Amino acid sequence: MIILLPLFIGLAIIGYLISKPYYREYKRAKVKNLPFNHAWQQIIAQRMPYFKQMPISLQQQLQKHIQVFIAEKEFVGCNGINITDEIKVTIAAQACLLLLNRKTNYYPQLNTILVYPSAFVKKQIAQSADGIQYTRQVALSGESWGFGKIVLSWQDSLHGAELPHDGHNVVIHEFAHQLDQESGQANGAPILGKGQNYQRWSEIFSTQFSLLRIQAAAGKPSIFDYYGATEPAEFFAVVSEVFFEKSVQFSHEHPALYQQLKDYYRVDPRHW
Ligand SMILES: [Zn+2]
Repeated sequence: MIILLPLFIGLAIIGYLISKPYYREYKRAKVKNLPFNHAWQQIIAQRMPYFKQMPISLQQQLQKHIQVFIAEKEFVGCNGINITDEIKVTIAAQACLLLLNRKTNYYPQLNTILVYPSAFVKKQIAQSADGIQYTRQVALSGESWGFGKIVLSWQDSLHGAELPHDGHNVVIHEFAHQLDQESGQANGAPILGKGQNYQRWSEIFSTQFSLLRIQAAAGKPSIFDYYGATEPAEFFAVVSEVFFEKSVQFSHEHPALYQQLKDYYRVDPRHW
C-alpha cells in the first residue's frame, strides 16, 4: 500500500492539472450567465460615455468580460482608498475593451490591481548628463509589473474613461503592457492572432517607432505621445491608447499601423 501511495499522489496531481482549465471555464460560464448587475450598468452609463455607442453585441461581450474579470481579480486599495464597485467596474470595463472578439484567458498572469487615489510617487534610478547615477522621485498614474500586479491611480483611471477622445488612457496603456508580457518580456510584440504575421508586424512597428523617435527628437507634433518613443514596449502601449481613443485620426495618419492594431484587437473603434 505504501509503495502505491506515490502513484496515487501522482495521479491526483495529474488529474488536478488536466481538470483545472475545464473547471475554470465552467466557473467562467457560470459567472457570465448571471444577469448583469443593474448598479454596475448605471456605473458604466455614467463613467463610460461611449459604451452605448458600441454595437450591442460588443456591449454584451464587454459585460460578460467585466463579470469574469471582477470575479477573478483582486482589487487592493492603497493610501487609504476604499475599493468600491464604481472603482472595480470602471477599471474592469476599460481593461476588457482589449479582450473583445477573441478567445481570451483574462490576463492570466495578473492577480492583483493596486489602486491609489491619485498619482503615486516612486523612486527611480536616473543618470545625470555626466554619467552620475542618482535617485529621483517620479509621480506615476500607472505601472504594469511582470509578476502579477498592476498599479493604477483612480483619478487617472476615471479621467481615461470619462475623456474617451483625448488619446490618453492609463488603463488601456497598462493592460496593453500585460498583453505584451504574455509573450515573455514586454517588447512591443504581443502574441499575434490567426492570420497575423510577425514579420509584417515587426516591419511596420519598427518604421513607425523610428518615425516617432525622430519627431520627438525634433519636437515635431505627433498623434502619439513622445513617451512612446522611449522603447518598443511603451510604443505599443501608447499606440494602443490612441487606437481606442482617436481611431479616425489614427487611421488617416498611420493607416498601416492602424490596420495591424485593428487585426490584433479585432475591433474597429472608428464605428463607435
Ligand atoms: Zn508604459
